[in-house]
Amino acid sequence: MKRIAFFDTKPYDKIWFDEYNEEFELDYYEGKLNRKTCKLVKGYDGVIAFVNDDIDKTVIDTMYEENVPVLAMRCSGYNNIDTKEAKGRVRILRVPAYSPHAVAEHAMALILTLNRKIHKAYIRTRDFNFSLNRLIGFDIYGKTVGVIGTGQIGRVFAQICRGFGAEVIGYDRYPAEDSGIQYVDLETLFQKSDIISLHCPLTKETHHMINKDSIAKMKHGVYIINTSRGSLIESQSLLDGLTSGKVGAAGLDVYEEESDLFYEDYSNIVVKDDILSILVSRPNVIITSHQAFLTEEALKSIASITLTNLSEYFQSGTCTNELKI
Ligand code: NAD
Repeated sequence: MKRIAFFDTKPYDKIWFDEYNEEFELDYYEGKLNRKTCKLVKGYDGVIAFVNDDIDKTVIDTMYEENVPVLAMRCSGYNNIDTKEAKGRVRILRVPAYSPHAVAEHAMALILTLNRKIHKAYIRTRDFNFSLNRLIGFDIYGKTVGVIGTGQIGRVFAQICRGFGAEVIGYDRYPAEDSGIQYVDLETLFQKSDIISLHCPLTKETHHMINKDSIAKMKHGVYIINTSRGSLIESQSLLDGLTSGKVGAAGLDVYEEESDLFYEDYSNIVVKDDILSILVSRPNVIITSHQAFLTEEALKSIASITLTNLSEYFQSGTCTNELKI
């Protein structure tokens, strides 16, 4: 039986990996995979990792030296892997799609919560404060929503927005003819959108695409929603935009410095990240802890596809969902 080391394990991961696994010996480690923990891979046939594991040169070197040929990511993104180092030495498998609906619906949940001030109303009414002052929102109907990245998630999100009667415009490096989305250039999207939602991958090109200059081009009071990757947004510029009122609200499921924080409980510890601390304190910011994927359907899909990927790889030496690097 092939032995697989599973990193950054949370209780909800084990539920469906244990249910679907028939083939492998899975050893669950709570710690993240990084240069400090990578020695643990010794003696394993493969590794399963996740979005905030730091798979740098040291990790890849160690896997290679310890004859661990395969890294199965239980996610779609792979920006946390040094792919140059992995090329020709460690094969990388991933889950290119598991539930675009989970992430797209979460993006809409952030918009609705921020716009209709549900987070504020919830706290008020629990204290028998039934005042409506400062809870005014706007109709999404008739507003313009700009979708950056019109892949699987971006398209489902666009469809949800159209369901609300919004006008959807999109920008994509590789526009898809069959998406039914009206494509515009990035400048136009920044200028026209009342709500901007990010659904493109993190690459050198998209790193900090939301910055001082791009925010300056946006409408006053624009809503910025990020369920993609934290480093698409330069956080200080976002904070400045929120302070000036240029940015009306921000819904963030991801944050550029999230890797040591998200998925952990720091409720009794002083978090030494001033930007995050200020963002969290703002009434017009909602931060969720990279949870957009967290539906039962998505978790089942992630477990089943990750295990099938490994099975295919060990049986045939290839895998449909192998990253081409
Ligand atoms: P996808 O590959 O189907 O779509 C990505 C789209 O972005 C593609 O259409 C691609 O052409 C486009 N794109 C590439 N480079 C671009 C650029 N420079 N500018 C604009 N568009 C560009 O991916 P997906 O499944 O829709 O996922 C989108 C992103 O969502 C992923 O990259 C991942 O970072 C993120 N994600 C987050 C969660 C979460 O839990 N928050 C879960 C899954 C995925």
